[in-house]
Amino acid sequence: MKNRLNTHKRRFVSCIMLLSVVIASIASGCGTTPKQQEPISGTRQALNTSVSVAIYDSTDKSLLDGCFDIIGKYDKLLSRTDTGSEIYKLNETGEADLSEDTLTLLKLGLDYSAKSEGAFDISIKPLSALWNFSSDNPKVPAAEDIAKASSHVDYKKILLEGNHAALQDKDSGVDLGAIAKGYIADKVKEYLLSKGVKSALINLGGNVLCVGSKPDGSDFSVGLQDPFGKRNEYSDVVKLKDLSIVTSGTYERNFTEGGKTYHHILNPSTGYPYDNGLVAVSIISKESVTGDALSTTCFALGLEKGMALIDATPDVYAVFVTSDGAKHYSKDYPFKHN
Ligand code: ADP
Ligand code: MG
Repeated sequence: MKNRLNTHKRRFVSCIMLLSVVIASIASGCGTTPKQQEPISGTRQALNTSVSVAIYDSTDKSLLDGCFDIIGKYDKLLSRTDTGSEIYKLNETGEADLSEDTLTLLKLGLDYSAKSEGAFDISIKPLSALWNFSSDNPKVPAAEDIAKASSHVDYKKILLEGNHAALQDKDSGVDLGAIAKGYIADKVKEYLLSKGVKSALINLGGNVLCVGSKPDGSDFSVGLQDPFGKRNEYSDVVKLKDLSIVTSGTYERNFTEGGKTYHHILNPSTGYPYDNGLVAVSIISKESVTGDALSTTCFALGLEKGMALIDATPDVYAVFVTSDGAKHYSKDYPFKHN
């Protein structure tokens, strides 16, 4: 199942890239505009998913290597499973000194945990490790194990003093999986900008971040997977310049057992996946980490509270898709075009 999903994601990613290339070439085919150059691009497996970068205004392939180096570095730093990571140390030993990046991200996770009153909980590790959605053959854990794991999820028991983090409950643990991809996408963008790139698309397993616009100044087109459709069927194409779009959905990582589908956004109070009528939440924001944090948080909060959070947050927009297929747009959503 995991491989199938990875293939799915890979296809989705390449399709997004393809789509933008197609649109770029259509635009360049009109009038006297000179033919636009093809982007240089690369795709790798990292962060438990497929990651891609396409650069439109440079032919320097070492820039792609630079991007993948950054992704690899942060993957190692922020992972809960890499035995060399700070988060692994914190979870295993109950305390760790954190680097600036890990600390920043943990603090952000704690903010969203508080903001959502624990619907989003950055100490989800006992549950996420138990369900282990990224394993080859995930299964529904025993009910008593789920109850036990839930009892150790409580972000209030993560103590921070300076750069030192400690777990008041030694069986608790941190999982940055809900926000790391957005943070890393922002770091890749920062790197590309520092190298003078003004036109690129970064896609970390569905966390899409635009660097500027297409070389001719027009928007990037990003396809949103239709949660009910076949692979690569879009429910929307969103046109973006310099912005990020991130989706949390039930179809992202899941498995089916006994005729029921289990997805990877977990309710800390029941220990089971959220079952609140949402199938996907997409967030458009300037920074990808904001979109990543909000997409998971809003999914956890459900339609009403999630939408209220978006409408109270400046400069972010959202589309919530419910199980009846309806799309719900945030206030003043400016990206509708079809
Ligand atoms: P994806 O990883 O598919 O992009 P998300 O950004 O929505 O999706 O993050 C899902 C991940 O967040 C899970 O794999 C897990 O690591 C973590 N997670 C699951 N449930 C919660 C929760 N209630 N609060 C915080 N993090 C969670
Ligand atoms: Mg997220």
